[in-house]
Amino acid sequence: MTKPGRIPCVVLSCRRTAPASKYPEGTIICCGKCWRLSDKALRVRWRSSRREREQLEAAADPLDGGGFSFKSREAYFAHADVLALEHAYWDQIIVQANEARAGIG
Ligand SMILES: [Zn+2]
Repeated sequence: MTKPGRIPCVVLSCRRTAPASKYPEGTIICCGKCWRLSDKALRVRWRSSRREREQLEAAADPLDGGGFSFKSREAYFAHADVLALEHAYWDQIIVQANEARAGIG
């Protein structure tokens, strides 16, 4: 069981944790050690999709209660696409890290 105030690494067999106070509630973390078990090319794609999403969000107006008001339909759909990509890459990275840790990757 994870100590109070700590959040566990998402990789099941990993015992590392991070301070919960550093992250918004409900955040799932992957420690650096496990993160580096996944393919570097995949991590590069994840990072670039995250950067692209952040740039689109920086150009939009933040809405009260979360979300963004985009300046155009194109920006709205580009954001939705890149957000889906970012999540898909992240999921793949976590699967690879779990497989590598379990010795089945
Ligand atoms: Zn870990």
